[in-house]
Amino acid sequence: MASQDLPAAFGFLASARPSGGGIPQAAFATRGTHTGVGLGLRSQTLNATLVHAPGTPPDSAQARDADTAVLIAGEIYNRDDLYSVLGPKTEQAGDAQLLLDLLHCYGLHAFRLVNGRFAAVVSTGRQVLLATDHAGSVPLYVCAGPGEVTASTEAKTLTGHGGPRGFPFADARRVRGLPGVYQVPAGAVMEIDLDTGTAGTHRTWTPPLARRIMDENEAVDAVRAALDRAVGARITPGSTPLVVLSGGIDSSGVAALAHRSAGTIDSLSMGTDVSDEFVQARAVAGHLGSRHREITVPTADLLRQLPYAVWASESEDPQIIEYLLPLVALYRALDGPARRVLTGYGADIPLAGMHREDRLPNLDTAVAYDMATYDGLNEMSPVLSAVSGHWSTHPYWDRDVLDLLVSLEAGLKRRYGRDKWVLRAAMAGLLPDETVRRPKLGVHEGSGTTSSFSLLLLEQGVAEQAVDAAKRQVVRELFDRTVVAGEDPGEVSTADVVRSVADRLERGAA
Ligand code: ATP
Ligand code: MG
Repeated sequence: MASQDLPAAFGFLASARPSGGGIPQAAFATRGTHTGVGLGLRSQTLNATLVHAPGTPPDSAQARDADTAVLIAGEIYNRDDLYSVLGPKTEQAGDAQLLLDLLHCYGLHAFRLVNGRFAAVVSTGRQVLLATDHAGSVPLYVCAGPGEVTASTEAKTLTGHGGPRGFPFADARRVRGLPGVYQVPAGAVMEIDLDTGTAGTHRTWTPPLARRIMDENEAVDAVRAALDRAVGARITPGSTPLVVLSGGIDSSGVAALAHRSAGTIDSLSMGTDVSDEFVQARAVAGHLGSRHREITVPTADLLRQLPYAVWASESEDPQIIEYLLPLVALYRALDGPARRVLTGYGADIPLAGMHREDRLPNLDTAVAYDMATYDGLNEMSPVLSAVSGHWSTHPYWDRDVLDLLVSLEAGLKRRYGRDKWVLRAAMAGLLPDETVRRPKLGVHEGSGTTSSFSLLLLEQGVAEQAVDAAKRQVVRELFDRTVVAGEDPGEVSTADVVRSVADRLERGAA
């Protein structure tokens, strides 16, 4: 019997008060069973709804003692390291219990030790702690007023909690359109006083700013070892993981390592009627012997999923939405029971894979910029796959992998005229030569998403030079409707929104 393959909870809405209060309820984009939790502590009460996979009990997403309660959505990847510092007597329980034990030992600094994909809320004494992983990969939002702190993994569920009289948080980003709602920064613990709403923010991770010099072999071995560990930590013994596979080096590398670790994998590729990478993905699937499936989404259907991509990611960045749209379409087409999904997402950020020329200063400028600005984009959000009940995880954004990749000097990333050289070299031998050498093709390019979205706008009369501005407006309007106003994305028509934006732009230009 395999151990539990999915995290105990994918998301939560939690409310802390000095005492009493009911279980907070809301409609989530995350699909799953809702379980109410009421935890009466010595100095406060924590009530929550946990969202979890049907049939997976959410027990290990919560832990408590008399004075402290912990809720976690997501999972921890360095459990063995953490148990080792707690000593041999610690019982190996769930992730929430592990956090509780660490909190007793280290206080809120416990979160500096954790490598994971999670958002957590801790009620302790008269304080509420809100913690994100290093990358903020499970988004976490807060809204607080006198005597109540409400936190959620989806901003849309916080409408009506606190409202404009909510406490302002200087260190957190406001969510446009949702008064009083703030996003907890990536790699941070917010410490909120339940009575006064005053908050202090402690950073638990920051991207490395310095660069390390290594010889080629040392760097290649280090990348391979770090990625191997990260992939292994994301696989449940006895279960078969699903890898979303483009045939590019990033996902192919994950597939190869997952195959070695799990013994067998399933793989899935998505294409549209205008573009796909099926041949390239098939080469990898054939090489590894994975059970492989292809899904073709007609372009019109793809663009119809735009409201879902915005609703799930709660992102307003049009470029990010273009990256995420094909993946949301893929996940929505993935029927059947909940799966653990591994992706190759995010490798290009620390490795500057989008950088297509030889000059190293520009490469490191791109890395430094992207690592300084990823927070709040929500491109790693688990809700993207959770809209159809699946749990996704991204080994390249494992804390140890990211620390290493970001910090490598630029000449190891671009070398011998190759982008992502160090990764390609680390994967040589595990994959077909043509896969290792294949130039990068972004997910938005391979699926034709960018061009299809542009074409839709051009067909509505948007001028070529106004396409980028129009995309921004379309995404903003979708955000206002699905996140702020809480409309069902299935009821929001991309075509209508595009038409109204095109009309507005035309009137503005006239
Ligand atoms: P490369 O950067 O070399 O193209 P890649 O295709 O693996 O490698 P991206 O293009 O950045 O990486 O895409 C991000 C991730 O999204 C991929 O690693 C993969 O997990 C997923 N993905 C992208 N395109 C597809 C696709 N057509 N089918 C299935 N999954 C995809
Ligand atoms: Mg690609």
